Amino acid sequence: MSEDLAELLFADVIVRKIEIKEISPCTADPERIKFLAQADKPLEDVLPILYLAIPNAKYSEKLGALSYMHQQHLITIFANGRISMTYVKDRNEANQLVEKLRRLINRAIIYLKTYGKPNPETVQAKKELTPIKIYELLPKTNCKMCGEQSCFAFAAKLLNGEKTLQDCQLLDSKEYNAFKFQIERMISPIKLK
Ligand code: SF4
Repeated sequence: MSEDLAELLFADVIVRKIEIKEISPCTADPERIKFLAQADKPLEDVLPILYLAIPNAKYSEKLGALSYMHQQHLITIFANGRISMTYVKDRNEANQLVEKLRRLINRAIIYLKTYGKPNPETVQAKKELTPIKIYELLPKTNCKMCGEQSCFAFAAKLLNGEKTLQDCQLLDSKEYNAFKFQIERMISPIKLK
């Protein structure tokens, strides 16, 4: 199903608009901006899905907030539909990022309507994921081909989103491919099409 068709079928529930409400200089670099925006729907139910889909996301049910790094931007999404983004070049980039996020959120909404809420055990398993658990599945050669000094350093960076599984070419070999798949399922148990 194409994205546009899916949005048509789920027209009543998808996010139509995310409005940028407040722009201010970025704390890390005053040449850049940060902004607050508001989605036209509450997002509480999609936060666990986004958490399971975005490899480096952090999620607190208590705070009703999910955050992750996307390129150099820290993106935080709140249950009430509030969204913040940092380190943005200008208004034009802000608009592009907002539209990209709106589409991602809508894919999560469509997932929710199709498959229901994710299992709490799956959410908990991701919360308990540590670099050690990932390291156990890596080749452990410390070959440095990924640009890291060790497989453990790679595992830590994979978990915070600074590296991707594609950065370890050994994982593509026959010997390690099943482990690659296993790690992928651990950091990103939901795939949003
Ligand atoms: S490329 Fe893979 S095997 Fe080599 S150090 Fe990095 S994580 Fe370890």
